[in-house]
Amino acid sequence: MTQTTKEDKQKVNLKNFNFKELENWVKEQGWPKFRAKQLAKWIYNKKVGSYDEMTDISKEIRQYLKDNTQLDTLELVSFEKSKIDGSIKFLWKLHDGHTIESVFIPERDHNTLCISTQVGCAVGCKFCYTTKDGLLRNLTTAEIVDQYIQVQRFVGLEPEKRISNIVYMGMGEPLANYDNVKKSVQILTDEKMVGLSNRKITISSSGIIAQILKMYEDKEFPQVRLAVSLNAADQKTREMIMPIAKTNTLEDLMKTLNSLPFKTGYRIMLEYVLLKGINDREKDAHNLARLIGKNKKKYKVNLIPFNPFEGSEFERPDEKRVERFQKILWDYNISAFIRWSKGKDISAACGQLRKKQLNNFISKQSLLEKTNA
Ligand code: SAH
Ligand code: SF4
Repeated sequence: MTQTTKEDKQKVNLKNFNFKELENWVKEQGWPKFRAKQLAKWIYNKKVGSYDEMTDISKEIRQYLKDNTQLDTLELVSFEKSKIDGSIKFLWKLHDGHTIESVFIPERDHNTLCISTQVGCAVGCKFCYTTKDGLLRNLTTAEIVDQYIQVQRFVGLEPEKRISNIVYMGMGEPLANYDNVKKSVQILTDEKMVGLSNRKITISSSGIIAQILKMYEDKEFPQVRLAVSLNAADQKTREMIMPIAKTNTLEDLMKTLNSLPFKTGYRIMLEYVLLKGINDREKDAHNLARLIGKNKKKYKVNLIPFNPFEGSEFERPDEKRVERFQKILWDYNISAFIRWSKGKDISAACGQLRKKQLNNFISKQSLLEKTNA
């Protein structure tokens, strides 16, 4: 793992470029066009962490790259592997000392990576730990893409370790960091770069209507899946737990979502964090069904039982209550899944890693020993 030095901050980071920009940069250096493809292969396919590994590039060019560009943007602080489901939570340090998290989630037939887009978040949802200190800053394109590259390098490049699905559900509101998120999606879906399938990338938003519309109208934004954190089925409750709902009302949000073009394989995911006694009552499930109305084929509901954190004012409902909520939706023929958080033992939920690791710092070495044990 390369260490970032202060000097590195001034350098160009190639992972901030989509393919067109990479080609332009290559041209500016006076190099032949094919070098863009060559660099993309080493960075995104081979996922190298140093220029010396780029063996088909001449020594002089490698030296030039070393002097003028930077490769990795994240420094691994620590990682924790769940003994229950094998998910791995990573804590990364950025060049300015801020920390972010990513979570690798192995599933039966594929692997998913949950990535962050901001340090903190300005949205202020009452049940979310990420937003406690507000927004500290946006991540750069390179910092977003690097989570994928470095986690894949860490878990291994063998086919069974391949990350095929990416969810923008870590720290931050992706659509509030629009340009960098867009470019990261371009890099992740471009055949000449990472080349993941568009359908396997999900962007989760708290429901900023203007940004959702912007994304759908933007021809350069690769079409990916949209998830919207609804979290309540009536305006009053939603406003109480998500301040953003005051300006992005439930009615307007649902109208917007209903108006989006429907494409097979791109059902919109409605996320719903279940908070005991607040939004998990039988009448809430009926309200949610009414809200979805006749558009059952367009949506999929993901029920996420609340993950408590120190000082949080909400409680997690028990399994029975969660299942009852799901059953009501099923009775309306609405597809609804329960997402018990992965890696419960390592609290691999949105924004919770940072706190635990910072308060209770465990050295990288001791974690390595633990994981290898
Ligand atoms: N900002 C985006 C994406 C990151 S949050 C969004 O809000 O959609 C990803 C998901 O985690 C959201 O659905 C959010 O509602 C959920 N979440 C946040 N805090 C949680 C907690 N403590 N327990 C369970 N889910 C939580
Ligand atoms: Fe931000 Fe999402 Fe957390 Fe809300 S749930 S504060 S939008 S990260």
